[in-house]
Amino acid sequence: MHEIPYEEILDNLRALNAQRVLIQSPEGLRREAEEIARFLEEKSIDVILHGEINYGACDPADREAKLLGCDALIHLGHSYMRLNLEVPTIFVPAFAQVEVIPALEKNLEEIRKLGKKIALVTTAQHIHRLDEARGFLERKGFEVLVGRGDSRVSWPGQVLGCNFSSAKVNADGVLFIGSGYFHPLGVALATRKPTLAINPYSGDAIWMTEEAERLVRKRWAQVAKAIDARSFGVIVSTKKGQLRLAEARRVVGLLREHGKRAELIAMNHISYGKLEGFSFDAYVVVACPRVPIDDYENWRKPILTPREVELLLGLREDYVFDEITGTDRDFDEPMGVSVHGPKAGL
Ligand code: SF4
Repeated sequence: MHEIPYEEILDNLRALNAQRVLIQSPEGLRREAEEIARFLEEKSIDVILHGEINYGACDPADREAKLLGCDALIHLGHSYMRLNLEVPTIFVPAFAQVEVIPALEKNLEEIRKLGKKIALVTTAQHIHRLDEARGFLERKGFEVLVGRGDSRVSWPGQVLGCNFSSAKVNADGVLFIGSGYFHPLGVALATRKPTLAINPYSGDAIWMTEEAERLVRKRWAQVAKAIDARSFGVIVSTKKGQLRLAEARRVVGLLREHGKRAELIAMNHISYGKLEGFSFDAYVVVACPRVPIDDYENWRKPILTPREVELLLGLREDYVFDEITGTDRDFDEPMGVSVHGPKAGL
């Protein structure tokens, strides 16, 4: 269970003069969404729960909120990403209630193998502990660099599954704090530096080099599977923060220049099942990079990223992770609830 800042949410809704709100939540925060609904309804605010799957701030339900006549959207579980929002949106990040110092203390000898100058990164769940972690490491003699990151992230040192801009600093190695494989794998591939992932829940430390090599081998296997493909469906996302139409058109152009048939396909939630009936030999996903990497086993056709198309066509030789980049980050988020979009003046 996460701590819900009920009063702060209510104060923000009152400041917006909102009478009806849509609450969007990832799967892990559905109960919290219900709790907020009950609380707000007691305060005479009309609530609609958004039932679609949500994986990130890249996919705010602001269009749906507008369509449903809501004055505001409450987006739970993720921090703000710079996007043009159609209704005022209250971002309520979910910070994990777990200490990080014990796991760092336990793995100090492994951390020393990264070198003296280390980049420190984490996900939004643990970002509130980053200063504490930095202080601890500095007291142990490390020079700690925390990159500012670009406009896709809210805070220095934050990484997303599609953006590792804050990890790209002049360090000997990268220390990632958090759980799961995808983020530290991305860090290792995007920085090409020794990357150590420390899980604050289990206290385990994992070096990502071998994992990254294994992933690259799997991705080359997908490229090899697509080698004889003559037609490609190039999937572009209708999710605001995943929409990369220019990049998708570039990929279509490259494929056509190389004698392939290529068509753009627009999708919101991308899955192979929805594409049944199309005759394409292979697909390219120009959206969230997690889709082709996490989900390829569920696809009966090869599924590539834009960078992998360049490998396929012989336009590059080295494996590059498909990152979504932002612009220079010219905003600083509070470490908590924030409001963006029209009327919020942001
Ligand atoms: S594009 Fe994918 S990795 Fe990036 S924020 Fe969205 S869901 Fe996360």
